Amino acid sequence: MEKMVTKNFEETREEGKALAEKLRGGEVICLSGDLGSGKTTFTQGILEGLGAEKPYVSPTFMIMKKYELGARSREEKIKNVYHIDTYRIDEKAILDLGWEEMLEEKDSVIIVEWPERIKNIIPGLARWIEFKWIGENEREIADLSSGA
Ligand code: ADP
Ligand code: MG
Repeated sequence: MEKMVTKNFEETREEGKALAEKLRGGEVICLSGDLGSGKTTFTQGILEGLGAEKPYVSPTFMIMKKYELGARSREEKIKNVYHIDTYRIDEKAILDLGWEEMLEEKDSVIIVEWPERIKNIIPGLARWIEFKWIGENEREIADLSSGA
């Protein structure tokens, strides 16, 4: 995926699933874009692809949800997925959640919605994906790190 337009939410979820196939642990995935642009839908695809247990809730009102994959993990390489939504909080609140320790976990994947709100603490190697509302059911998804 470099840059593409999905035509419905299922396609966006499928893109998330496709990304999940490539994850090995230790990744930080930054999803930027306006409200309703598809960040959580895409995340649900990643979670499904990794075999995380439902329900896949939007963490907007709870800041972070941790999914422990346990034996569900593909090849058991990835143990945890942290889905973080910084919409209502700031860098300090994320640091207080144990951000530095999360970054150290090489068998975890961290997904951040609204990453620009905490850009000072996002590692340089993070993968940035940008979502844009094109029409009622169309969303542009651009992987800003592809080719990097
Ligand atoms: P965000 O997390 O960026 O605020 P969500 O994924 O929560 O966005 O919401 C996206 C909304 O847009 C959902 O209600 C979804 O059903 C709808 N939608 C319509 N078309 C698409 C599409 N192509 N991709 C993703 N979501 C879509
Ligand atoms: Mg969201």
